[in-house]
Amino acid sequence: MRPFRQTCALTSFPGALRCQCRALCYIAWSKPAGQDTGLKVFNSLTKRKEPLILAKEGAASWYSCGPTVYDHAHLGHACSYVRFDILQRILSRVFGINVTHIMVITDIDDKIIQRSQKDNISATALAKIYEEEFKNDMSALKVLPPTLYMRVTENIPQIIAFIKGIINNGHAYATHEGHVYFDIRSIGNRYGKFTGMSVAGGKRDIRDFALWKASKPLEPYWESPWGRGRPGWHIECSTIASSVFGDQLDIHSGGIDLAFPHHENEIAQCEAYHKCDQWGNYFLHSGHLHLRGSTEKMSKSLKNYITIKDFLQSYSADEFRMFCLLSRYQSAVDYSDTSMAIARSLLQSISAFIHDAESYMKGQLLCQAVDEVALWQRLADTKASVQKALADDFDTPRAIDAVMSLIHHGNCQLQVISKANGSSRSAAPFGAIVSYIRDFLDVLGIDLLHSVDSPGLLENVVEELVRFRSEVRSIALAPQEVTPSNTKDGTPPGQPRRDRVPLLRACDALRKNLEPFGVHIKVSALFMASLWTVGGNPRRHENMQTSHRLSGD
Ligand SMILES: [Zn+2]
Repeated sequence: MRPFRQTCALTSFPGALRCQCRALCYIAWSKPAGQDTGLKVFNSLTKRKEPLILAKEGAASWYSCGPTVYDHAHLGHACSYVRFDILQRILSRVFGINVTHIMVITDIDDKIIQRSQKDNISATALAKIYEEEFKNDMSALKVLPPTLYMRVTENIPQIIAFIKGIINNGHAYATHEGHVYFDIRSIGNRYGKFTGMSVAGGKRDIRDFALWKASKPLEPYWESPWGRGRPGWHIECSTIASSVFGDQLDIHSGGIDLAFPHHENEIAQCEAYHKCDQWGNYFLHSGHLHLRGSTEKMSKSLKNYITIKDFLQSYSADEFRMFCLLSRYQSAVDYSDTSMAIARSLLQSISAFIHDAESYMKGQLLCQAVDEVALWQRLADTKASVQKALADDFDTPRAIDAVMSLIHHGNCQLQVISKANGSSRSAAPFGAIVSYIRDFLDVLGIDLLHSVDSPGLLENVVEELVRFRSEVRSIALAPQEVTPSNTKDGTPPGQPRRDRVPLLRACDALRKNLEPFGVHIKVSALFMASLWTVGGNPRRHENMQTSHRLSGD
């Protein structure tokens, strides 16, 4: 084993994952053999961007620490899971890499035991409830499920065998009390020194951490060679990752708070068990989510959290995803209503552009002649910029920026005119741009066509309402026919009848009253259609009986 991984000689930090030296720890990392994907990723093991090299061509093994299921998941968790979901979608959809993603569900743990005793239900039942809730939350956030979820309680024999292996290799020991500890000194006496801690519970060294914990009375337990007990937290990840991927892992991910000691200890255990120098090649860590104005991360212990369910009452999954895309995955991010408003308005701008481009393509929106060469060039440049940004440690803010600038350019080219001027329509480049933007968003998990935030039933009801309003308006707008019977109300021929003006007012009022609910109805002479949108997402075109442009519309 490589002893100097455990402490940086320059900073004396315990463990490469915690060290900031950017120099000596780098030497401790060996560039893996395999396929260079062309991507660069920020590797926490070296604190710098490294070329992403995968052991098997076109495939990545990816392990992530999942939830400890004892309570509701909050927005801080959501941010980490959505960010890594985005990274995996990019790897598979943009770079053609099949990701085998294993996520562990920690369904036995001190927190679960404490909560179950407090709530007077079994630890198993409590864990089942919150595991189900976690999966529902992830699905509501459109986070793709991992290839496999694996529960700790279904892997106890494997964990016991793994611990035995580490003991046999001389890197762990059992105590009289029935605990098993990792023997830090056995891997070189260079693991960081924690001061002010006393050696307790039969430990040889204060830095030794538990692989197996003897159970106290009334606690759940499993039989083991060391007596009744349960696994420590770190060992479950090492065992389960190894049970699927063996002694070699391409990518390990998690929140930055897991880097030390959890990931550091996972590394120590795996390298002690497999007797290898480098078990995990890349550790990717996501930054914390802060409430704006707070320097603390969102966490249960600080009681400053928003649950995912509460959040989704106010915002959609797509809006949260856009919020996540606007920062680098490894940076800390400020959450506030303002940052959510920015994400929402970007999605609205994209929808509005797609809608306008489609109307133009259909001939419903008349525009000046378009510079097709410039448009095709812009599209090609954008594709190249997006590809480059995503290959550079998944730089999603830069990719979004490139797409927004394409949209800006497209909007500038759509110069609306009121009368056809005989110039031909350039439908093809706009079609290509719309299709590219849709694909781009789809890759990232945003679907503008089938937004889940508007249930189908509501959509149909609104559509009916809009259709009814259009019909009433068109009846009210029907021009006065010149006959002896209807001239007596004084309406000039060709104008709407005066007695029908209240109907038009009612139609205007309905349009205004629907706006606070995010339903925007537009009617225009040029569109010859009534269009309504929810949250900026175009929903329907509806042919109208009339082409009059009216006040207020
Ligand atoms: Zn873990």
